[in-house]
Amino acid sequence: KTFRDLGLNNWIVKQCEIVGISKPSPIQLNCIPKILEGSDCIGCAKTGSGKTAAFVLPMLHLLSEDPYGIFALIITPTRELAHQIGEHFKVLGKPLGLKYSIIIGGADIIEQGIELSNKPHIVIATPGRLADHIEHGTDFSLKKIRFLVLDEADRLLEDKFGDQLQTIFSVLPEKRQTLLFSATLTDTLQQLEHISNNKPFVWVS
Ligand code: AMP
Repeated sequence: KTFRDLGLNNWIVKQCEIVGISKPSPIQLNCIPKILEGSDCIGCAKTGSGKTAAFVLPMLHLLSEDPYGIFALIITPTRELAHQIGEHFKVLGKPLGLKYSIIIGGADIIEQGIELSNKPHIVIATPGRLADHIEHGTDFSLKKIRFLVLDEADRLLEDKFGDQLQTIFSVLPEKRQTLLFSATLTDTLQQLEHISNNKPFVWVS
């Protein structure tokens, strides 16, 4: 099967070709149609499996059809992963003129605040810094996001992120599409099913 067979727009298929991604990986084959049809998904996939493109590609497809406000929030445990995800949006979403913000510790909080108040399409964040912005009154809203993605969800479930995630979840809308990606399927991950508050998760690997 090709990316076109999975239901992605022509411009995305072309963009994949340009960056040298020609054949969908297994996680992409299984995830992309589910995400396009609106399901909440738990994707079980290690780094190197193409899991980032598995959520970035269908999100770009849907964003190009209906852009409004902040479209998606992606939470990831490390600064480096945040940059890698940003790079995917930059390269694969190039024809869209997409605005994304990387909200991580160690970077200028004032500049980040300005970026957030300018309503980027995509916010890619580590939990601590995003929780800081929410608690300290940065002028932005996550109330209308269409997508929540938890990348490396098993690592995000470590205790140290607990309070920060709670702060973040408290400002998100109930109606949204939730995607979890994890290398391992821990018990805690299964408990996390409650964060998809509208519908059951589809498990894909
Ligand atoms: P990830 O698993 O998301 O960390 O991706 C690992 C690497 O694989 C990244 O550098 C991607 O650009 C690349 N990649 C993603 N999807 C594919 C694909 N279908 N075929 C070849 N390489 C890919």
